[in-house]
Amino acid sequence: MAKNIGAVTIDSERCKGCNLCVVACPLGVLALKGREVNNRGYHFAYMESPDKCIGCQSCALVCPDACIEVYKCPPTAPPKRGALAVEAERPDQGQALQREEPATETSAQPSNVTLMKGNEALAVAAIRYGADGYFGYPITPQSEVLERLEQEMPWETTGMVVVQAESEVAAINMVYAGASCGKAVFTSTSSPGFSLMQEGMSYMAASEVPALVINVMRGGPGLGTIHPSQADYFQATKGGGHGDYHAIVLAPSSVQEMADFVGLGWDLAFKYRCVSMILADGVIGQMMEKVVLPPQRPRRTDDEIRRQCPWAVTGRKGMRPKNVVTSLELDDDKMEANNLRFQATYRLIEQNETRCELVDTDDCDWLIVAFGSMARISMKAMELARARGIKVGMVRPITLWPFPAEQIRKAAANAKGILVPELDAGQMIEDVKLAVECRLPVEHFGRLGGNVPTPDEILDALTRGFNIA
Ligand code: SF4
Ligand code: SF4
Repeated sequence: MAKNIGAVTIDSERCKGCNLCVVACPLGVLALKGREVNNRGYHFAYMESPDKCIGCQSCALVCPDACIEVYKCPPTAPPKRGALAVEAERPDQGQALQREEPATETSAQPSNVTLMKGNEALAVAAIRYGADGYFGYPITPQSEVLERLEQEMPWETTGMVVVQAESEVAAINMVYAGASCGKAVFTSTSSPGFSLMQEGMSYMAASEVPALVINVMRGGPGLGTIHPSQADYFQATKGGGHGDYHAIVLAPSSVQEMADFVGLGWDLAFKYRCVSMILADGVIGQMMEKVVLPPQRPRRTDDEIRRQCPWAVTGRKGMRPKNVVTSLELDDDKMEANNLRFQATYRLIEQNETRCELVDTDDCDWLIVAFGSMARISMKAMELARARGIKVGMVRPITLWPFPAEQIRKAAANAKGILVPELDAGQMIEDVKLAVECRLPVEHFGRLGGNVPTPDEILDALTRGFNIA
């Protein structure tokens, strides 16, 4: 048996049984008490397999109520890192940018399987994708993106540029400039910072430049809290700046997807010449899980960029007419033609790129539609419901725009009602209602201001909302 190098204490009276620590633990150390409840009536968390604990702190980091303390004991033997290995293949990443050199792994790169926070996974995945530049301004709960990039120092290995800008407005305009040159550039922020970026988002959409923007949402409005939220759904999916435009919005629900969606986001952005967004919440950004990292790819050469992005500002060298990247068009008819071209692209994206995960939808009487961390908590609520004989299925939108309306409509074909749990006052529910054209009841359940619900709260909302005995 492996020697312990970690131990946790859990304040079982404060615990609300939300299950976040259980799913965050990479070694299956924790579980919720099946029968016992605390004085507040919750099935509380406990160490089911204490021998396996490695003291990684993932559980303590995700606990919204700070119930967990982690202790590290001096190891008498090195930890068995091999225990973290997973068999899973990396999911299909879509059509990658073409590179003339084959993808290679450098001898200097760390193991492809590692344990890290969602924010850190974003940063490392971007370096490995062959990113050209990051421009950002730190804001909780996503500051680890910039911190990790500075620790990795990619400017000394791949040549990637990392700049802490003076503000989010500066950062998004640096991204606009880099994207106009055909470079793979990105920024990350959290809700108040994302609001500041909306003008730049609109300009990039109108200029048809590909870029990646990451928003790890926190509770608002205003400066709000630093805790998780999903209340930027409208802003992200409906085009938060001025004018008729959309960004592709990817919603990860695991650290693995935080890493995977970096490559997918850029591939889609370059394919359609649009902005891709990763819309995560603070739980996914802060939680630690094992993650399979992609192999290191080389950055594209200037010649490759010139060939693959003939619209980009790359220096004429007298060889071609000059390229101008701008969102300004003062001729009304030309601006209308531009808009019609944007809309045609959006219809193509809706046709080709809508993604979602279906869980137990074949026989369900009741459907849950949830994304991000709420999908994870809803999975546990589904398990509890099925244990009581209530047949619940779930649709997890992976693209929030384009929204998987048709998939939801099909999954709900035989359902009696839909519950939409969100970390907001009810935003995605509007798209769900449109998807089913109000043919069946759709109820919302939400926690606000940075609070995260328990699986029991979601189950309670389902049974009360639809009068299920
Ligand atoms: S998440 Fe890490 S610290 Fe917490 S119980 Fe699991 S192994 Fe131990
Ligand atoms: S994360 Fe949730 S289940 Fe785990 S200790 Fe904290 S409140 Fe309890």
